[in-house]
Amino acid sequence: MSVVAVVGGQWGDEGKGKIVDLLAEKAHLVVRYSGGNNAGHTIMNEYGTFRLHLVPSGIFHSGVTCIIGNGVVVDPQALAEEMDDLRARGVDLSGLRISDRAHLIMPYHIALDALEEQARGAEAIGTTGKGIGPAFMDKIARNGIRVGDLMDRDSFARRLSAVLSVKNAIITKVYGGDAIDFDWVHDKYSAFGKEMGGYVTETQVLAQEAVQKGDSMLLEGAQGTMLDPDFGTYPFVTSSCPTAAGACSGLGIPPTALQRIVGVFKAYTTRVGGGPMPTELKDETGELIRERAHEYGATTGRPRRCGWFDGVAARHSARINGLTGIALTRLDVLDGFDTIRVCSAYEVEGRRYQYPPASVSVLAACRPVYEEVPGWSASTRGTRAPGDLPAEARAYVQRLSELIGCPMDVISVGPEREETITIRPL
Ligand code: GDP
Repeated sequence: MSVVAVVGGQWGDEGKGKIVDLLAEKAHLVVRYSGGNNAGHTIMNEYGTFRLHLVPSGIFHSGVTCIIGNGVVVDPQALAEEMDDLRARGVDLSGLRISDRAHLIMPYHIALDALEEQARGAEAIGTTGKGIGPAFMDKIARNGIRVGDLMDRDSFARRLSAVLSVKNAIITKVYGGDAIDFDWVHDKYSAFGKEMGGYVTETQVLAQEAVQKGDSMLLEGAQGTMLDPDFGTYPFVTSSCPTAAGACSGLGIPPTALQRIVGVFKAYTTRVGGGPMPTELKDETGELIRERAHEYGATTGRPRRCGWFDGVAARHSARINGLTGIALTRLDVLDGFDTIRVCSAYEVEGRRYQYPPASVSVLAACRPVYEEVPGWSASTRGTRAPGDLPAEARAYVQRLSELIGCPMDVISVGPEREETITIRPL
């Protein structure tokens, strides 16, 4: 393995956690590069079942350096809780490093997230309410406070005082909410600064040195490409860049350092929150997929919207990321269907689209053009080689690969590590 980015090919929750966990033992460094604690990777291994929100999945492998990169926004309370839970369950955290350039989620971000979402009324985006969007807004508006700022008590106090007075004016005067107390925030965050201090460093330097030495590095994406602020279903998107490009800027390594870019796709489609989803099934088939696959958000518990595989969105995603291969997950969920549908184009008012249109109202009006393929009755869960898959499952996987426009690297047929078929070793 060299430098490998694992990115979400759809609307998130594709099963990136499992793929990253599989690869992490071979890596020297594992990195989270975007998003915040709105992402939730579920990992099952010998320590138990974990829902990681901020700590990179490589943490379970000893000797691996796990970086929370500058492109992540950090809620120190959430991070402290996650670290406490991992420690309590016997996981060694000595390899963890946090970028001093990562922005902090402050209590006013969480308050504003709820107030802004409420004010959107029927146009609500369906955010996770964890302050991620407002923290990224402040980063770009140059009002942010960074992890490194906590290491200097006086400058933190000055910065907080300037920012908090403006935030409190917005909270109270625009939204009629309650002002947030300076001393409370200052003391709480100063304590976090002390607690996290030993883990904070210039992580981009670590990463750049690793690239120069030829160390293997795994870049762990959060969310999915269809939630990218530029190329996703704007405005129903996330607030940082979940793509391979985001992996470079969210860590501080050049695009030329990326050797493999693996897109993780479910064998069908899901999405949480609002926004168009052309292949959504609002019928008993959608319900069946949801119940069979237990499609409920790892972070929020919200039911995920389920539908057939969207080849149009997937191809778009492959091109945006420059995918070199596919990790297909949850093929087992489709075991037992008589027939399976795959969307190969969209149609609206007589026009055919081979890529998702920019306008969400046009996208919402798009009807999927389906190909129907035969399903398979045998279970795929015990299969470990492509040749062991039922012929119909092989044909289905082959068709997805053609639609996406790149080869399969791995196929996942269950949540456990060993429930995996490797086609092109990473
Ligand atoms: P992520 O954010 O992309 O890592 O996705 P999540 O962790 O939210 O969702 C992935 C879920 O799917 C987890 O519960 C995994 O254990 C599970 N999972 C991953 N791969 C497979 C698979 O091939 N089959 C089944 N049945 N479950 C899988």
